[in-house]
Amino acid sequence: MSNRPKIKKKTQQTEFRIDRNLVQPIACGKCGSKYFEQVYGVVRIPAVVSPTGQEIINTDGFLRCIGCGRCAKLQHIEQKDEELNH
Ligand SMILES: [Zn+2]
Repeated sequence: MSNRPKIKKKTQQTEFRIDRNLVQPIACGKCGSKYFEQVYGVVRIPAVVSPTGQEIINTDGFLRCIGCGRCAKLQHIEQKDEELNH
């Protein structure tokens, strides 16, 4: 009976270990490359639509594919060009 808590602790540790076989790289929807670099667009929000009533200059992050150079949002990198146009 006194061994039980030790066994429980062991199983808790293994639960936090990520099975590397389940970690899958995401490929570019256009060329299939798996490597990207982070780039930023800069956007201007006019005062008339700004929540603060003043013009806002802000950055907008994208990932640029090393393979084909296409820029897309993180959630869109797997999509093909046709899907992105919608
Ligand atoms: Zn690509």
